[in-house]
Formats: sequence, C-alpha cells, structure tokens
Amino acid sequence: MTIPHPAQRIKVAIAGGGPGGLATAIALDKVPNVEVVLYEKSAVLREVGAGISIGQNSWNVLELLGVADSVISGHPTLAVLNLNGRTGEELTRTERVVKGKHTSIRTERTHLQAALLKHVKPGVIRYGKKLQKTEDLGDAGVKIYFTDGSSDIADLLVGADGICSVVRDGAWPTYPLKFTGTTIWRALLPRKELKALDPRFDITGWWHLPTSHVWFSPVSQGLSEIAAREYQDPKIHSASKSTWGVPVTNEYVESHFTEYLPQIQAAIKAIPYGAWREFAAFAGPELSRLTAWNNKIVLVGDASHALSGAFGSGAGFAMEDGWVLAQALALFGNDLNKALPLFDEIRLPYYAKMYAHLDEQKQKRSDTLGKIKEPTEEDRVRSKVIGMGGKDMSWIYEHDIGKTWEKARGRLDV
Ligand SMILES: Cc1cc2nc3c(=O)[nH]c(=O)nc-3n(C[C@H](O)[C@H](O)[C@H](O)COP(=O)(O)OP(=O)(O)OC[C@H]3O[C@@H](n4cnc5c(N)ncnc54)[C@H](O)[C@@H]3O)c2cc1C
Repeated sequence: MTIPHPAQRIKVAIAGGGPGGLATAIALDKVPNVEVVLYEKSAVLREVGAGISIGQNSWNVLELLGVADSVISGHPTLAVLNLNGRTGEELTRTERVVKGKHTSIRTERTHLQAALLKHVKPGVIRYGKKLQKTEDLGDAGVKIYFTDGSSDIADLLVGADGICSVVRDGAWPTYPLKFTGTTIWRALLPRKELKALDPRFDITGWWHLPTSHVWFSPVSQGLSEIAAREYQDPKIHSASKSTWGVPVTNEYVESHFTEYLPQIQAAIKAIPYGAWREFAAFAGPELSRLTAWNNKIVLVGDASHALSGAFGSGAGFAMEDGWVLAQALALFGNDLNKALPLFDEIRLPYYAKMYAHLDEQKQKRSDTLGKIKEPTEEDRVRSKVIGMGGKDMSWIYEHDIGKTWEKARGRLDV
C-alpha cells in the first residue's frame, strides 16, 4: 500500500464543541495539510451537568492528545457502592486499584472542558453557529447550512454534535432516536453538608429503588454531586429533545424520590433553589457504519452511538473517536477513501460490543427476576444491581486506544 506524499490538502469542518469535537480539533491540528474549523451552536462553551468520571481509558486518550496534565484533578473513585435506597442495605462494594499513571477520578465537567479548550488553536472555534442542514455536493464536498443564513463547504464533516445530531439526521434521515423513559436531575452541593447527612454519601455510590436511583459522588475537595434518575414507561411519558440541562423546581425533583431514606430526601432538599438541571435520556440503535456520503461524513462521540450516557464514559469514547480519526487521516495522507473505512473498522466493533453488553444486562436482570415467584421490592432492587455487574469491564475502563490503534495498523500492509 502506498501512502500519498505529500499529504493532500483538505478542509475538515467539525460540528459541535463537546469533548468529541474539541478532541478531534486538537488531534487534527497535528495532521499535516488539514484546515480545521469547529462550529459550535452556543455563544460560549459552557458544560451543562455536574460531574464527569475520568477513568483509565479517558486518561489514556488525554495523554495521547497531550491534555492530561491540564486536567485539574478531582476526587478519586477507588471505592464504589450499590445500596438499597429505602433500607440502606449495602449490596455491593467494589474496591479498585490504581493501574497506570492516573487514578480514576470524578471531577467537574467544566474542568475537562477547560483542559481541552486550552489545547485548541485560537481561531478554530466559531461560536454561535448552529448547523441546520447538510447537502452532499458529490466530488465538491459537503455543504453546511447554519441557522443564521450562512453556509460553508468542507471536504469532510465531522458530526460531533451530540446525541441529537443534525449531521446524523442529514446522512441517516430515518435514524430512530427515542426517549428511553429515563429522566436525570443533576446538581452540585457542598461536600461537607452532604457528608453530615450520612457519611456514606461521601463515597461514590448508587442508592437504588426498582425504577430509580440517587447517585452521590464527591467531585473535588469542596463539592459533591447528586444525580437522581427515574424511569417511567415511555409509552405513557414523553419528553422533548430540548430537555437537556434545563432548570427545574426543587419541588418537582423532590416529588420523584419520596420513598427514599429520610437522609436521601434531605440531601435532595438541600440543593439551592434554581440549581437542579433536568436531562431527558434519548437513545437509538447501533449504526452499521459511522461514515456516509462516500467518506465525506463521519460521526464521533454521542452522535455515533446514541447510548444515552450508558457506561458513564461517553466523553472518553468521544475523545477516542477524535484521536483515531486523526491517526487514520495522517496514515493515509488525508485520503478520505482510505482513512474513513479504517475508522469504521476500528470503532464499529467497539460500539457493537457496547450495544451487545447492554442487551445482555437487560436479559440478566429479567432472568434473575424471572426465577422469583412473587418478587418483593428488595428482590427487584437486587436483580437490578446484579444486572449491572458481574462482568469484566476492563475492555471499557482500561481501554488503551493507542494500543488498539497500533494493532489495527499492524494488520495493514503500510
Ligand atoms: C447523566 C449523564 C452522565 C454522564 N456521565 C459521564 C461520565 O461520568 N463520564 C463520561 O465520560 N461521560 C459521561 N456521560 C456521557 C457524556 O456526557 C457524553 O457521552 C459526552 O459529552 C459526549 O461528547 P460529545 O462531544 O459526543 O457530545 P456533547 O458533549 O453532547 O457535545 C455536543 C456539542 O455539540 C453542540 N451542538 C449540538 N447541536 C449542534 C448544532 N446543530 N450545531 C452546532 N453545534 C451543536 C453542543 O452545544 C455541544 O457543545 C454522561 C451522560 C449523561 C447524560
């Protein structure tokens, strides 16, 4: 196989400035002859949501991007609990050991974003540019239309515009994104205040009832996070795609968790008025390819696998996508017809494994419950926790994208 030399000059437009878009911009900056422009709909980049986990897999890609040292450390998540939210019974406790240079942490989402932003070249990001639609111009590239009436043309459009991706809608117009029934409410509060209610709130942990849970985790010396989620049958309850980080009243959140232990209810009540944010979880099936329009479109991050935050590592996946895309372009001298199929070859099986794992978990949960004649609430909570665990997840949380890339490269005659 011959690599074109010198590299072709191409223009890459990235839609979206989340972890996926920012990581793609950083990685592409190191690829010769690539002009990069990132279009972000917001006027300024602000992360909605409270905390974010940075596990070994995310640290690995942050190292490759040269960003790891810029991430302000958070709180180590070496012990993780699962408990019954009504009785307080501890159901599982996982103790992790530190492997590699970095400890798994939970930190504020803004810390990760600030670290990535620091490494994006000035002038690359164009704010206040909301993609409205896209058009396939054949050999002339992809035309991108913005809501402000302007447009641009690029050789490659990277859809890093999140789970409700406009880029995906354009190239996969029948993609069925649906409300999962799960609503999440997130907020931060002083760690001391939370710990005073129950010392176990100072350990990263899920407090479960059959169709809901409340999660506590410190994110820094001074702050802790509460993420409370509830599942309601989506056949009855609907949600709008725009429900992403919208403020909700305290009373509304409190009304969903009245059956929990008094100290959990007190923690929920302790959130300052106006601080709760609501997120409606949407999801869709796996795609058979992450590239489209004869290798002029590629999806990264949540746009490419609408898994609705499953595995709590989506920012890591998004950054891995961006880094691999850049390596593939560099390897093939920016030949999109060679680089994009390699991207698919590396990332598709990984996402397929995630979808398969979630199906297995669902099955395991219903099998466990199916063995009990008249399951009590405690049985249902237990089967939920059993369904969540028991399998080696190092293929996600210890994934080293650098090694995966080297393996894929080794298979090629390059
Ligand atoms: C409750 C919850 C908890 C989570 N916890 C974790 C965690 O602990 N660790 C972890 O790694 N991941 C976590 N995730 C997942 C993680 O947040 C996402 O997977 C990650 O943010 C995906 O990054 P992204 O860049 O693909 O998309 P996003 O972060 O969604 O970014 C998309 C960007 O595109 C912009 N945009 C959208 N539409 C347009 C448009 N039309 N035009 C221009 N710009 C546009 C948006 O403004 C945004 O800046 C969690 C998710 C949820 C819901």
